[in-house]
Amino acid sequence: MAARPFASSADLGVKEQTLEVLADGVYALTAEGDPNVGAIEGEDFLVCFEALATPVAARRWLARLREHTDKPVRYLVLSHYHAVRVLGASAFDAEVVVSSEQTRHLIAERGQQDWESEYGRMPRLFEEPESIPGLTWPTMTFRDRLTISLGGDRGELVLAFLGRGHTEGDVVAWLPEQQVLFAGDLVESQAALYTGDAFHTDWATGTLDRVKALGAQQLVGGRGRIARGREEVDAAIEQTRDFLLTMQRTVGDVHRAGGTLTQAFEATHAALAPQYGAWPIFEHCLPFDVQRLWDELSGIERPVIWTAERDRQVWDELQG
Ligand SMILES: [Zn+2]
Repeated sequence: MAARPFASSADLGVKEQTLEVLADGVYALTAEGDPNVGAIEGEDFLVCFEALATPVAARRWLARLREHTDKPVRYLVLSHYHAVRVLGASAFDAEVVVSSEQTRHLIAERGQQDWESEYGRMPRLFEEPESIPGLTWPTMTFRDRLTISLGGDRGELVLAFLGRGHTEGDVVAWLPEQQVLFAGDLVESQAALYTGDAFHTDWATGTLDRVKALGAQQLVGGRGRIARGREEVDAAIEQTRDFLLTMQRTVGDVHRAGGTLTQAFEATHAALAPQYGAWPIFEHCLPFDVQRLWDELSGIERPVIWTAERDRQVWDELQG
């Protein structure tokens, strides 16, 4: 078999972006499996959720949003530290950049390496990479929960850390009155999971349970289509859980039996591909996902930092 092109480096097809209005003043931009973003109108300000990979990419989203509202961006919320979600931040001119404390720590610890890693894996998302002024730093952080009053009769927006999952510090944005949830990469709706920085056990159990318990009627995941209605929302959450549980079962079996990482990868690929193989970024993510879970099962508590070099090494070993 010919070697697969590294990660998503050969994925150069342009994705169509769709702006959807989920409720009065609540917006999401989806892009056929590329990272989703959102915005929520306060009475006289905006809260934006996630920033895309570069200021140039972010400005295209903001131009779409400006067809609906010209309110200034007071808060830019970073759901987690990954480069393709944060490095476009400067385009928002936000008064406040918000994240969890854990995310701030991850940016300090591994933000630079992650930038280089993600740029190599997904070059298409980095539109005009020279427009990135540097790492994005939050200017306000919280540990578990931060409530933003939206003013007027718009209710409130709750930012919450619901447990370790896709990373050590993911937060969701929840509108209790509109029952809309921006879940970041904690939930994917018909898109493959990236678990290279994940805590598989926490994510598949308590964290997803707490996401589900919110009872959202609409859910915007990190990638993929918007889930509408409780049935679709729960299906997206359970699909995310099934992906994780299948990985834990297949990688766990090989690990316990004293097998190799390559055997674990092949078993996991075989188990997931029938249902998830055609979904965006499946082949790209799986080697990194299996490596992280293997590490987790080997007692490595916190994810090993991904660098451009380690990316290539793991890729060549498993997908090369
Ligand atoms: Zn992510």
